[in-house]
Amino acid sequence: MTKWVLVPAAGIYVLLVGLLCAFGVVVGVSGGAAAPACGPNGSTLTVPKPWKDLNRPREEDLDYLTPEELTNATVVVSTIRTVTEGSNGGPPEVPLAPGAGRRAAEIALVVTWVESNLRNLNYGDADSLGLFQQRQEYYPVTVSTDPVRATRAFLVGLPGVKGLVHVPEWPGMEIGAAAVRVQRPAQRYEFRYHEFDEWAAAATQLLWAGVPVCPPDSVAPQPALHSAALPLARDLLPRDEYDDPHHDYPAVDLAVPTGTPAYAMVPGTVSLVDDDRCGTGIVIAAGDGGSYVYCHLSAVDVGEGASVVAGQYVGATGNTGRSTGPHLHIGIKVGETSRCPQTWLLSVYDGLAAPNPLLLPTVGCSY
Ligand SMILES: [Zn+2]
Repeated sequence: MTKWVLVPAAGIYVLLVGLLCAFGVVVGVSGGAAAPACGPNGSTLTVPKPWKDLNRPREEDLDYLTPEELTNATVVVSTIRTVTEGSNGGPPEVPLAPGAGRRAAEIALVVTWVESNLRNLNYGDADSLGLFQQRQEYYPVTVSTDPVRATRAFLVGLPGVKGLVHVPEWPGMEIGAAAVRVQRPAQRYEFRYHEFDEWAAAATQLLWAGVPVCPPDSVAPQPALHSAALPLARDLLPRDEYDDPHHDYPAVDLAVPTGTPAYAMVPGTVSLVDDDRCGTGIVIAAGDGGSYVYCHLSAVDVGEGASVVAGQYVGATGNTGRSTGPHLHIGIKVGETSRCPQTWLLSVYDGLAAPNPLLLPTVGCSY
């Protein structure tokens, strides 16, 4: 069983995930059209909507933050990162223990989702305003309606008003318990904050890295060298994640949150997969004789029989099929034989030509 530390935020969200997944039988289901590119800098990430249970998204829940919500979420997380880690090599204004900054971002995201659905409102209950619905009794309107200043005030307070960092032992508290000590009066809403813990961890993991994000249906392609591309944005995972052995048989499991864009590794023709083991998946039959298998997706953005180019957005990762945690399963097969994809992935990661799948080993990458 593979075990990961998925979100090491203050040691609280340590998810030990054992993976179970397998190749699927190719079955046709309907799919959408290829996505156009977005963003001048090749924006690559989407952030899912908050769900109560990220591991079991229902089809009607497969939705993403709107541009407005995403912009506000990005401001909240980047503001907290700047305050707690510094910027441009400078020292942090408020140094925190390792992981505590991310924890603060998770708490702030849950508060803004519950209070305003990540909208910078110029109205609210009684005298509440803005993303955090901060009360004018405590926060000047110029603070509560400015997402950067409102986030700072939530984190470090104002003269005479406590911030999150002033709450004793806050990094170890449940999100609701910490939040109600800053947001006031919010005790009667404490239970609502608990519903979004898992989403906040996943969204923070995506946004903390500072990778540009864009809404789905406009996901930019991955750069492709030598007609090959990584199945995930290169800066998302360290190199050694692509070298992990797989349980049972040759393949690799890549730990990423549900909703992470996946890209065509090779040019080829798409077959759609929908079965109990692979879940929602695709197979790309390439001209090099290899079949490139993607499993456990939450959404597919290419149709049966579609031609794709290397680096094209093909869908979003997830946790469908026989899987016990969000991840992308990647396999390379020649005929019915599973080959070890590790060398292929490392070569592409390093900017080298991808090895022919016929030259990949059939043993040595599983346990
Ligand atoms: Zn797997």
